[in-house]
Amino acid sequence: MNRIYNERHIPVLLKEVVDNLVWKPDGVYVDCTVGEGGHTRAIAERILETGGRVIGIDVDSEVLQIAERNLETYPNVQLFKFSYVDLPVLLNLLQVHSVDGLLVDLGVSTYQLKGEGRGFSFNQDEPLDMRMNLENELTAHHVVNTYPEDRLADIIYNYGEERFARRIARSIVNSRPINTTRELVEAIRRALPYKEIHSRKRHFATKTFQAIRIEVNKELENLAKFLSFAPDLLTPGGRLAIISFHSLEDRLVKHTFKNDPRLEPIGDFVAPSMEELAENPRSRSAKLRVAKRV
Ligand code: SAM
Repeated sequence: MNRIYNERHIPVLLKEVVDNLVWKPDGVYVDCTVGEGGHTRAIAERILETGGRVIGIDVDSEVLQIAERNLETYPNVQLFKFSYVDLPVLLNLLQVHSVDGLLVDLGVSTYQLKGEGRGFSFNQDEPLDMRMNLENELTAHHVVNTYPEDRLADIIYNYGEERFARRIARSIVNSRPINTTRELVEAIRRALPYKEIHSRKRHFATKTFQAIRIEVNKELENLAKFLSFAPDLLTPGGRLAIISFHSLEDRLVKHTFKNDPRLEPIGDFVAPSMEELAENPRSRSAKLRVAKRV
């Protein structure tokens, strides 16, 4: 990996995750979205002396290399390039029949956003990519340049909650070919009224970029699939902890936790404290929900 990257991902709701997830000191836990390994490390640390272990997976082979470095001193951590959608396959290969806790930290890692050349960020001018798994075929370039206008508008409206979705979709179609993140930002700019561009709290391209990223990585489909089998991987009393950053994701998690007879929600959701928000503004839309296998 030769990309320029001088940042560090700050794990969100770290103490809250570990306190709620780790209930069995010698348990087996899976961090389904290891990223740079912040949550994995804190879980591994908590159970290091008591015989517990963590299996960490991520689809991004580059971010996994960072995790490997960050976690090399933890003998109770094993890392794999795997999608959480295929977790049952991995557990089968490892002959692990059930686990005591599963963590999913949705959204995008700082490496993906700030690492050079991944095409996730409207602040850098790069080829449009946005794949978390670099082996997948679907890229942001394909979505932006080939999807019909109506489909693009629906994606931007649903996944981005962008009320100017139709205008943006039309502008994208009229601006094709769009090869770089900057060209996409300009297509979005041309669609929005002047006031919207200057009055929004976040960058005017945030919602559209988020929507395209969710589409490229099939984030909602993957989460829905995972939620359908995850309870069966847990031992009785096992915990399922999910951090979401988007109302559609949170709705899916909340609905599953409430209605799946295999699960019992533990409390309401947990949001970042004022201190965490001040230290890590990226945490502002995070919601942690935890459920227990009955
Ligand atoms: N908790 C991590 C930490 O403390 O560094 C950060 C996780 S980051 C918000 C989300 C991660 O999920 C990204 O690294 C991304 O590549 C990964 N990811 C996305 N979809 C995935 C999937 N289907 N299976 C496994 N990992 C996935």
